[in-house]
Amino acid sequence: MHLRADLHIHSPFALAVSKHMLPEQLLASSAIKGIQVIGTGDGLHPTWRSLWREHLVNPEGICVVPTAEVEGLHRIHHLILMEDFDQCGALHDLLKPYSSNIDRNGRPQVKLDGEEIAAHVHSVGGMIGPAHAFTPWTSLFATYDHIRDCYGDEPIDLLELGLSADSSYGAGISELRQVPFLSNSDAHSPQTNKFGREFNLLDVNDLTPRAVLSAIREQRILMNAGFFPEEGKYNRTACIECLHQYTLEEAIAHHWRCPVDGARIKKGVADRARELTDGPSSHRPPYLHLIPLSEIIQRVLGTASPSAKKVQRLYNEFISRFGDEITVLIDTPEDEISIINPAVGAAVQALRAGKVELHPGGGGSYGSFSFR
Ligand SMILES: [Zn+2]
Ligand SMILES: [Zn+2]
Repeated sequence: MHLRADLHIHSPFALAVSKHMLPEQLLASSAIKGIQVIGTGDGLHPTWRSLWREHLVNPEGICVVPTAEVEGLHRIHHLILMEDFDQCGALHDLLKPYSSNIDRNGRPQVKLDGEEIAAHVHSVGGMIGPAHAFTPWTSLFATYDHIRDCYGDEPIDLLELGLSADSSYGAGISELRQVPFLSNSDAHSPQTNKFGREFNLLDVNDLTPRAVLSAIREQRILMNAGFFPEEGKYNRTACIECLHQYTLEEAIAHHWRCPVDGARIKKGVADRARELTDGPSSHRPPYLHLIPLSEIIQRVLGTASPSAKKVQRLYNEFISRFGDEITVLIDTPEDEISIINPAVGAAVQALRAGKVELHPGGGGSYGSFSFR
């Protein structure tokens, strides 16, 4: 069966996460968004696991996969997928001697390098790879040029692209040729313009975490979907204070200091991926670029926020008529969308036709879009 999976989110036990990020709300958001497989996020946190326990079997029929993110040495973030909570508990116990906050912080810091963390993950039967691999602060490629430099002899099982990249960014990096790419939301809120904003379409044999992990391991990823990379916060090289964008050559000439205000210039994901590209592009599953429906409606109605009442009322009308958001974005015929609101119908059609103008983000500020 073909299932949409979002395998990286966070709990209220991690930094800067909405207190509404609770299992009941996440399951409701999954059904509204059209996500059938959800990663728990923060699966090493004992209380978060106990909150999930009674929802592993749920009326929505959503498959709950234990997942976690840890911050290893050099502040590199690793994404971990597991088959059950026993594996989470075993990994927690293995990492605890190296972490001072594993029982408090949903995304714990662990004083181990990638190779050591990966060895522990593999010893309990889990899968691991770099999270948001190209971002300039807390990622593998922020610190290293090669997977081996971080993970040594331990193989990686996946690579998460991050919001500022799509599969084309990693396709020409030869050492990633056999590594499955994942696209996940990394959501800190259950709102449907955050949760499920990126997902993977997987060919899964049954509705169990083990089958989901097998699908990734065996490269049965049919499609990645998510942001246009330009919408991400770190797509372009830019000053972290004034957000002025620079070419790679300009940034080097300025020694990574902004000539306007002296603040730091951060290398964008697009430039970083281009630097690492060393060969022809390998074949990758198609990448579908999407914009959350509530942000499309916001743009059409001209409101300040996608959570405005007017936006939510119209959004709910679409969900009750067509079932879920991703169906509306991908499958529902334009004329049926237009019966509810012609301008939204035209905007969704523009998105499908790629008639979207992008204003790239950088320096920590999201990009934006307009319809042509
Ligand atoms: Zn992270
Ligand atoms: Zn500046």
